[in-house]
Amino acid sequence: MAKQTRKEKKAEEARVLAEMRAALEEAEREENAEQEPENQTDEYMGAPQTPVYHCKRCRSEMKNGVCPVCGFRMYVPMDEKKAGKIKLALTAVGMVVFVALFIWLQIKKG
Ligand SMILES: [Zn+2]
Repeated sequence: MAKQTRKEKKAEEARVLAEMRAALEEAEREENAEQEPENQTDEYMGAPQTPVYHCKRCRSEMKNGVCPVCGFRMYVPMDEKKAGKIKLALTAVGMVVFVALFIWLQIKKG
C-alpha cells in the first residue's frame, strides 16, 4: 500500500469527521422522533403508565405485586433506596450484636 501524503491524510480526516457529524445528527433526529410520540401518549393517557402483571397462579390482574383473587405475591425487585436502608439497618444490628458479644465476653472473663 502506498504511503498516504499529508493532503490525503487531511482529506481522510475531514471525511471521517463529516461522517461522525452526520451520524451524530442522525442520532439526534432519531431521539427527537422517539420523544414526540411519547409526549403524545402521555397526553392521551393522562397518568403515567404502570406495567400490568398477571398472576402466575390464576392469571388475573395483579395489584401492587399481589393478586387480589388468590393472594399470590409476585417478586418485586427492591428499589435502591430501600435496599440501602436495609443494608444500613443490618450493619447497625451486626455492630450492636458484636459490641454486646464483646461486653458479654469481658463480663464472663472478669
Ligand atoms: Zn391469583
